[in-house]
Amino acid sequence: MADIDLLLARAKEFHGDMCPGIVLGTRMTTIGMRELHMDPMVRNRDLIVYVEIDRCITDAIQAITGCSLGHRTLKYRPYGKFAATFINLATQDAVRVSAREKERTEKPGSEAMNEAGKMLRDAPEEDLFRVQRVRVVIPEGDLPGFPKHRTRCSRCGETILDDKEIVAEETVLCGNCARGSYYTEAG
Ligand SMILES: [Zn+2]
Ligand SMILES: [Zn+2]
Repeated sequence: MADIDLLLARAKEFHGDMCPGIVLGTRMTTIGMRELHMDPMVRNRDLIVYVEIDRCITDAIQAITGCSLGHRTLKYRPYGKFAATFINLATQDAVRVSAREKERTEKPGSEAMNEAGKMLRDAPEEDLFRVQRVRVVIPEGDLPGFPKHRTRCSRCGETILDDKEIVAEETVLCGNCARGSYYTEAG
């Protein structure tokens, strides 16, 4: 079994500092991988992780699993929840690990952080986490591997990969043009 402190060190190095989120994410990863019969000390190419928040825990998950957006093995769903689902592509087994709601007693400051971190490292698993067997159907266009489909937006002309276009009345649009974007043209 992997040494939790070794994994914590790996997560800390990637994240830049140690914080309760790193401890939480490290433990979530060890649970998720254990449930899929994977060794967290070894990169597993069949592992896909959906994260439900873009905070510290996600860096721990990425650092330990090696899953990343660029490899299409890390998926982000903006739900604002301390939860992640670990999927074994080879077997389709999937497990969702979520943090149980806790009275947050830590105060800002490194002393308090250390205390909170230690508590999270040592607390019994079932006090901190809920583990659910789940089923995830990963769309073809979200799988790792060479792009199978590409098209062009009829409005802005930009290329769209991986089935991300929106087709309405036979018009092909990109997400930006169809739904409104996170940016607007300046000037
Ligand atoms: Zn952090
Ligand atoms: Zn467009």
